[in-house]
Parts: sequence; structure tokens; C-alpha cells
Amino acid sequence: AGSCSSGDGIIFRSKLPAIPIPNHLPLHAYCFQSLPDSADRPCLIVGSSGKSYTYAETHLICRKTAAGLSNLGISRGDVIMILLPNCPEFVFTFIGASMIGAVTTTANPFYTPSEILKQFKASAAKLIVTQSSFVDKLGHFSRLSLHEEEEEEGVGGHRHRHRQGGSAAAILGKDFTVITVDDPPESCLHFSVLSEANDQSPPDWEQEVVHYYSASCSCSRKLEFEFDPDDPVALPFSSGTTGLPKGVVLTHRSLITSVAQQVDGENPNLHLRGDDVVLCLLPLFHIYSLNSVLLCSLRAGAAVLLMHKFEIGALLELIQRHRVSVAAVVPPLVLALAKNPVVEGFDLSSLRLVLSGAAPLAKDLEDALRTRVPQAVLGQGYGMTEAGPVLSMCLGFAKQPFPTKSGSCGTVVRNAELKVIDPVTGSSLGYNQSGEICIRGQQIMKGYLNDPEATARTIDVEGWLHTGDIGYVDEDDEVFIVDRVKEIIKFKGFQVPPAELEALLLSHASIADAAVVPQKDEAAGEVPVAFVVCSKGMEVTEEAIKQFVAKQVVFYKRLYKVYFVHAIPKSPSGKILRKDLRAKLAAAAASS
Ligand code: AMP
Repeated sequence: AGSCSSGDGIIFRSKLPAIPIPNHLPLHAYCFQSLPDSADRPCLIVGSSGKSYTYAETHLICRKTAAGLSNLGISRGDVIMILLPNCPEFVFTFIGASMIGAVTTTANPFYTPSEILKQFKASAAKLIVTQSSFVDKLGHFSRLSLHEEEEEEGVGGHRHRHRQGGSAAAILGKDFTVITVDDPPESCLHFSVLSEANDQSPPDWEQEVVHYYSASCSCSRKLEFEFDPDDPVALPFSSGTTGLPKGVVLTHRSLITSVAQQVDGENPNLHLRGDDVVLCLLPLFHIYSLNSVLLCSLRAGAAVLLMHKFEIGALLELIQRHRVSVAAVVPPLVLALAKNPVVEGFDLSSLRLVLSGAAPLAKDLEDALRTRVPQAVLGQGYGMTEAGPVLSMCLGFAKQPFPTKSGSCGTVVRNAELKVIDPVTGSSLGYNQSGEICIRGQQIMKGYLNDPEATARTIDVEGWLHTGDIGYVDEDDEVFIVDRVKEIIKFKGFQVPPAELEALLLSHASIADAAVVPQKDEAAGEVPVAFVVCSKGMEVTEEAIKQFVAKQVVFYKRLYKVYFVHAIPKSPSGKILRKDLRAKLAAAAASS
């Protein structure tokens, strides 16, 4: 059985045996550990151009990129920001940064300047890798003049100096380095300063590779940079259970553990194999794609098919042309694959596994897709950025030995513990009892960047990470998510933090109070809607408020509806009673 009784309740574990996980390695070394075998196999394939890189080529460019970053003064503990759609340079930069002990924060390139700036500042990034069309957004940094001259604790515990505001040109290139993967505008560098750097410069990557990959090699020179498995390597941002987006510190140890939980083990490559072609359409700036698609594929020696934007015809054509065998998707993509009539015209017989995650997938939708791709194992994974991110997943081999039911998020990953607690009493519950899902294991985040209070609210003293999701485990040890007690709204799997929109609304002169909650939506899953109290004597229209917000946020954070109310329901301690507002919306929807 995958579970055991512990005092007041049950701790659920994987039905698969625990495995040894080499999480003493640096992440890149773990991911490329099979390099000698996979050297000549395709690693990255660019969907739009067909250009491909073998494992050996990819690794070489990653090493050069590491040297290039080092030449530009980036070293252990420094943060760099990737502001890119899915492309090979994303991979080179992320892995290259890992090779020198640097940390990558990934941001949505479609963020507005102020959204990018907030993350750039909070992460104390020193360098940005982007494309020329996004550089204008960075010029905006100076106008917002949010760079105070101050010292701040960086992610690796290092001190970072913040720079003074100034003209765009002064900021770009001088105060922080901007590198573009295409023709660089003035004050920016071209990506070739990284990808064509001389990788002979110390530290010597070749030695490091030899050190980790080839026990037979006589060379025994040690790594030249200090390394601790608990060093951060990735810094995605997430608002977690409450409040504004925060830096989620994921270490080499946590990411290796998470990848191993998905693809390592005695049954090699539970959901990925070396001969797989894996669709990488979900944005790599989100940990779901970065971890479960990219890192897992590298570890398995599979080919990663990079797509930078969704268009159903192009997607189907690529699946057919490259014989894609594994597709990681989100519910809106399942909807397209299951319902769009154009799908009938394409050969999807190569798909052996379709994994959906990031948001709830309706059972009937899952069943509808099953009839379209009957040969594929179809299942869900359940993740949360802070959890590294995967908590549970359907197992990708054939339809046995553990078939998963429609609507289920599979079973808890191995080398981890999951419990379901009563949200009021905190006591742990048994089978088929709904409560808050908690997870414990080496894969979870180290904590939120520079935010011990938020960390303590999320990870308790016993090491349990509280997800804010409500679910249960059935008698077959399958996890079902039924509700969410946390604030976060999920638009097509993207995070929409209500606190961020509420802060924006409160900055409007005509708004005295505001609350933002999710409203159910067929296409997006959820959309953000606002309840607004106007300031005394002020008038403002719904359209004006929507425009005001839309100008400042990425498209999926835009308000769908504004309801004018006399007061926002609050608890005696002043907390917004979101449940009441959600109930109000549900009642209105039921009566319409
Ligand atoms: P993120 O940190 O952006 O990955 O968002 C994590 C949250 O997305 C989780 O805490 C859940 O609320 C939701 N989520 C992720 N996967 C699923 C799933 N398979 N079913 C239901 N909700 C999910």
C-alpha cells in the first residue's frame, strides 16, 4: 500500500518504491549525466525553423554560455533574468547559469514594463537575456526610477548594489547588461557574447563535465567553483497561497529531486524515454514547462520540440511531422485537441502520453480527448511552483500497473509524503476525506526570497508545505483536487494574484475599496472579476476601471467584469471574505 497511519491520520506515499536520488550533483550535471550515450541524439528542435541541436551541441553551447556569463562578471549566487519565449537560447542560458552557480529568474516576456521591473528588482538580477522586441520595456525601467541606491540581500545571500535611476541609455548596458538573441538595439549585446565565448576561461567546464560524466576518465581535477546542493538555481515567481508574487527559491537539490521523482527509477523513465519527442509549447518561464518538460526530457535524453506560440494548425502539423510522442498541455489545450474539428485532418498516432497540469481538467473533457487519441495514456499532473512543482502525477507507462481514473491527478510522487488536513483543526484526514493538501520532501522550495514570514506561513516547522488546495485521496491512492482555499486565480493555468489587482485598483483615485475573485469561465477555467466601492462623491465607469487595469498588466490579468458594491465583506480582522464573494457570483450564475 502507498500509505501508512501516523498518529491522528494517514501519510500518503507513492506505491512505487523510493529510489536513490543523486541530488548532491549540480542540476546541469544531473540533467546531462547520460551525455556519453545521448551525444548524437537530437536534444532541441526549433518548431518554426526545423533547426535542431544534438545533445553534444547543446551541451557545448551551454558551456560556452556559462563562460560568457562568467566573462560578463556573473558568478555564483548572482541572479540573471530570462525574458524570452521558448527558444534554444532559453535553454543555453538556464543551463549555462547553473554551470557557474548562478540563479535564473524567469519572467513572462509579455509582462508589462512595471511587472517586469517588480520581478527584476525583487530578484536583484544583474543581467537580462531577451529579444530586441522586448527591449523597449526595459528602457521604461529608468522612467519608473525605481532603482534606489541601496544594498540588498541577494538570493544567494550575496550583497547586491542597486543602481541609480537615469536615462534609458544610461540604464541599459551600463547599469545592467541586456543581451538579445536577435539583432541587438543600441546599448545591448548580442547573444554570441555568450554562445561563442571561449570556454577555456576558468573555471574549466570541460573538467567539470569529465568529473561528473565519465568515471573512466583519468582526469581527476575538481570543480573550480564552490558548490552546495542547497544553492538556488531557479527563481520563478509565484504568489503562493496569499499576497503578491514572491521569488520561489528552488535549489539544485529540489529540482533534481523533482525531476528524479518523475523520470528516474528502476522502471527507467516513468513518463519519458530517450526515444521520445516531447512537445515544449507551454512557456518555459513557468516551472511546469521548465521542470516537467525541459529538465525531465534532458535527463531522459529525449528530444524537445520548442514552440514559441500556440496556433492549432501549426501545432498539429508539428506533432505529425516530428512524430511527437509526449505532449505536456494545460486544460485549454486539451479543449482544443478534444473539440476542434481541424484535429480530424491530422495524424496524431505518434502520441503515447498526454499530460495535463497547472489547472483543473474537467472529467468530460479528459474523456473527450481519450476518444481522439485512444492509443495515448492521458493523465494529469498536479503541481505548485513552491512544491518544485510536482506533487502527484499519473504514471506514464501503458495503462497498467496503476491506471488512473478520469479526473484524478495521479498518485503522489515517490520519495515524498502527502497528507490531507482539516483546514480548521489541522488534524490529518483519511481516505476520501477532503481537506488541505500538504506535501513534504526534498523537492519543495527552500523558501520565498527575502520573505521569512511568507515562508513560515507556507512551510510549517515539520517541513510540510501547505498548498491551499482542497482535495482528497481515494482508496486507490489517487489524488483529486476539488477546490482552492487560497486567493490565486488561474486563467488558462496562468497565475493571476488578486492582491496585485486589488493594489492597482486601490491606486485609482475614484476607488475606495476593492476585492478581486475568480469567476468560472468555460474557455479560461477562471477569469478575474472585481468588486469595487467608489470613493465618496466620485464616479467611475466599469469600462474606465477595466482600461485602467488593462494598461498595467499582462493580458490574462485583465478584469472581465466590475461589480459596484457599497462595501467589501470582511472578517473582524479585516480579511476580505472571498468565499462570500465567490458564492455571490455562483448564485448569480445559477439564476441567470
Ligand atoms: P502554479 O504555482 O502556477 O503552478 O499554480 C499551482 C496551483 O495550480 C495549484 O496549487 C493548484 O491550485 C492549481 N493546479 C495545478 N495543477 C492542477 C491540477 N491538475 N488540478 C487542479 N488544480 C491544479
